[in-house]
Amino acid sequence: MKFRKSAAMAAVSALALTATACGGENSSAGNDAKAPAATESAKTWKYPVAKDAQVEGSPAFKAAKARGKLIIGAKSDQPYLGFEDQATKKRSGFDIEIATMVAADLGFTPDQIQWKSFNSDQRETAIAQGQVDYYVGTYSINSKRKKKVGFAGPYYKAGADLLVRKDEADITGKTSLTGKKVCSIKGSTPLQEIQKPEYGARVVELGNYTDCVKQLLAGRIDAVTTDDSILKGFAAQDPTRLKVVGEPFTTELYGIGVDKQDKALRAAINESLTKHVKDGTYKKIYNSTLGLSGSMYTEPPAVNNY
Ligand code: GLU
Repeated sequence: MKFRKSAAMAAVSALALTATACGGENSSAGNDAKAPAATESAKTWKYPVAKDAQVEGSPAFKAAKARGKLIIGAKSDQPYLGFEDQATKKRSGFDIEIATMVAADLGFTPDQIQWKSFNSDQRETAIAQGQVDYYVGTYSINSKRKKKVGFAGPYYKAGADLLVRKDEADITGKTSLTGKKVCSIKGSTPLQEIQKPEYGARVVELGNYTDCVKQLLAGRIDAVTTDDSILKGFAAQDPTRLKVVGEPFTTELYGIGVDKQDKALRAAINESLTKHVKDGTYKKIYNSTLGLSGSMYTEPPAVNNY
């Protein structure tokens, strides 16, 4: 069914697009982009917080209860997904809402969430060292990462794509990258992909996507590659200067990163995801965040025990 505009707008005003940053730190993403317009007038979405939630046998849950705060790792420079407004310190986006929804099922209110920002190359370490209780930030499940961390989910399916300047005519998809300067970020799966000789690209490796986009706008590189979900967010913020081209050329299944040993927490998060896909909360979240950047809604893949 097509989501009608009036319904979408009603959902926007009724839903939470923001979450208050509570002691966020490690904000290394260098985010100076403006917040997505939709988040500016957003009201706080109240997920019902489970009273007396228990996750038997989860060390992370036990520690979070003892400190009275849940520590969640996230991105801070990905509009519509994981974004932190530098002026207000408010967080918004699809991943932030998914993380907040799960937190509510674990018995934590938004005020009891402490957000920490980590870039792509810092995630495994942050999770394995217990710097976060869980991580939600466009984090693809793959076998290399599974050696170090556990994943709940998947809760979304994305695919690598290309962001170019609006007037770009030569780059139309993955087969037109020979000799082109293509930026992606350290520790990301699209960086590994674009380094394959078959693309013939001159790869530029930076620390976060904001920096890649800045280089693109300055004319120093020709394209940015990462998940279509992320690129559409940047294009939606600056539609007169940026566009996404081509078809997604990888499959990225987003998981919620947890400590590898903490199977109880992983199961509890999977339960939360399954429940809210069923009750429609997931779709509402999607339509009021990522859906606003032009991504089409698709039913998320069934959860698994990664
Ligand atoms: N989903 C990809 C990954 O996990 C790219 C997005 C990101 O860097 O977070 O590497």
